Amino acid sequence: MDDCLFCRIAGGKMGTEFVYENRDAVVFADISPQAPVHLLVVPREHVADITSAPPQMLGRLFQAATEAAARVGLDQFRLVVNTGRDAGQTVFHLHIHLLGGRSMTWPPG
Ligand code: 5GP
Ligand code: ZN
Repeated sequence: MDDCLFCRIAGGKMGTEFVYENRDAVVFADISPQAPVHLLVVPREHVADITSAPPQMLGRLFQAATEAAARVGLDQFRLVVNTGRDAGQTVFHLHIHLLGGRSMTWPPG
């Protein structure tokens, strides 16, 4: 989708550096990091959010997240999938936040 920011990034149109990528997903640094490591794990295929994602995509996406974590040397991290505006979703192309490099608190705000 030409009007989708993460489609453009995943398609290489924004010159974004990928810290990890595979056939299904690209992983790049969040522009507004909330932790020392804050990556976004984004499927190449456009899906607005987790409620419309096929199960196989979700499996591959979480696998890409753990592979990206290993790539950057993290063995403790948090994965977050904001779904809907009330949950904090601002980009309506499915993505997993991969946060690490500091102690986390619970519950999130
Ligand atoms: P959401 O709020 O939808 O869960 O997450 C969207 C994330 O995308 C936010 O953490 C935001 O900082 C990040 N973001 C928004 N625009 C850009 C961009 O142009 N480049 C990158 N790398 N991250 C972005
Ligand atoms: Zn998209």
